[in-house]
Amino acid sequence: MRLRRLLIFFQSVILSSSMLANSIAAEPNASGDAISASNLNAIVQTLSSEAFEGRAPGTPGEEKTVNYLIDKMAAMGLEPGGTDGSWTQDVAMMRTQVKSPIAMTFTTGPGRLALEQGISASIDTAGSSTRVTAEKIPVVFVGFGTHAPEQDWDDYGDIDLKGKLAIYLVNDPDFAATPEEPAAGRFGNRRMTYYGRWAYKYEEAARRGAFGALVIHETEAAGYDWSVAAAGAGENVSLGVKNPAAPPIKMQGWIHNDAATRLFTQAGYDLNALRVAARDPEFRAFEMKGTHFSTELEVDVTQFDSRNVLGVIKGKARPNEILMASAHWDAYGIGAPDKLGRTVRGGANDDALGSAGILELARILARGPALDRSVVFAFWTAEEAGLVGSMAYAEDPVYPLETTVANFTLDILQTAGAARDVILVGKGQSDLEDDLARHAQNQGRYVTEETLPENGLFYRADHFSMARGGVPVLLIMGIAGGSDLVTGGRAAGEQWIADYVGNCYHKPCDAWSDNWDLTGAIQDIELFKELIMELGNSTRWPEWKPGSEFKGLRDQSSESRSH
Ligand SMILES: [Zn+2]
Repeated sequence: MRLRRLLIFFQSVILSSSMLANSIAAEPNASGDAISASNLNAIVQTLSSEAFEGRAPGTPGEEKTVNYLIDKMAAMGLEPGGTDGSWTQDVAMMRTQVKSPIAMTFTTGPGRLALEQGISASIDTAGSSTRVTAEKIPVVFVGFGTHAPEQDWDDYGDIDLKGKLAIYLVNDPDFAATPEEPAAGRFGNRRMTYYGRWAYKYEEAARRGAFGALVIHETEAAGYDWSVAAAGAGENVSLGVKNPAAPPIKMQGWIHNDAATRLFTQAGYDLNALRVAARDPEFRAFEMKGTHFSTELEVDVTQFDSRNVLGVIKGKARPNEILMASAHWDAYGIGAPDKLGRTVRGGANDDALGSAGILELARILARGPALDRSVVFAFWTAEEAGLVGSMAYAEDPVYPLETTVANFTLDILQTAGAARDVILVGKGQSDLEDDLARHAQNQGRYVTEETLPENGLFYRADHFSMARGGVPVLLIMGIAGGSDLVTGGRAAGEQWIADYVGNCYHKPCDAWSDNWDLTGAIQDIELFKELIMELGNSTRWPEWKPGSEFKGLRDQSSESRSH
């Protein structure tokens, strides 16, 4: 009851202010100084409509989405924020599909072990070759494959990985460590660090010139079960133009724990004992004696172009200092019909709602007096394919990352109403979390840490592309933890996530509904507005906290941030 009255009050405020201000869009939107639920709803309804075909990169849905975002920002009076004075940044994309059947065989002396795609392995390729082969190449067990100079930890030692297959343990060295072990606490304990992500392991293997990398799947340490690991089915979508100095590995993926156990036993090793040994800082990678790997992959390779969309409000005093607010515009396109016959996966919440939130931030900041620093509003392509658009930006940024103050990312907002708390993803990373706590307190709210930090959500949305480039980041992600809802408390917040993730996430069911209560989502967007306005008129540079794996990189460019 209280909630409903608040909503009616809120809507009436918006109505009266919209009568005073100029109408800015074709949609019958409110245009006051407050983040507007009716605006958010209207934007989401448009972006997630059938006409936009689920916003898949490289489809007519992309054309409509990109034009829509540009029209919106132009109407608000933003300036183009993309490449060469345009509204966009080109992202060359490549889709590879490894064709089945795939021959993958280990030989251990006289022994043989064949892997089967989807059953005992799940592999793909990020290279552009249509045919990939390996003939009896050496196999190296690299443990967790962690090279962390700040922790004085190096699993590789002198090993040469060139042209070899590297086998990795999932997660990082202290995930399963007991408190007495030397690894304990050095990699966030149960919290996953970047070193625990498969993406890091593939990158490290590529830097060392390996032919390929296989990660041994374990459900708990991976954060998902084998069916999810195997769901990739040989497909990979990545940046089309790679740094020629660091070509990707030719084969990457998972090996099922049972197959790995058999392989190690057959080769004369005890995998469980090696798991424990790899948690010791003295562990070093080694070539598995008498063990070789052969494969033949036929690959379909498709190249296509997509676009990030960017607008900017220039700062009045220090326009080269950039605050960035972002979301991803892409969704899952058209798929098989669901029970209701729906085929368009419109991603209403993921991430049309986040995009709508960024557009609302842009609208409000464009109305107010200019800040000292510039604010860039970025809408990334191909997040769902693996953060491709944001990674493309971070590799070739329109605005230098060294002088990008912070990135604020919205990816899924809860639609179950007002919340007493805001969920923090990646606790202990940067001092932006202290700012978030302060502004939440101003709203009468408090901060709750994400529910499952061991799942590494901090490494799984677009903000991470910026973090990897050294930029301090904050992510708001509605599925990171159940909110303490004003109506129904934590249980209701958790129920909302269970319903959304269980039924709708990445499916046609992720559709706009007139049951949405955006009060809590608006509170979260307000937090970003307050943070951006405060930092926008400040000379402060937020910093990574000691112990963050991104601090070292940021510190290298500290010269460019001295005033
Ligand atoms: Zn998303």
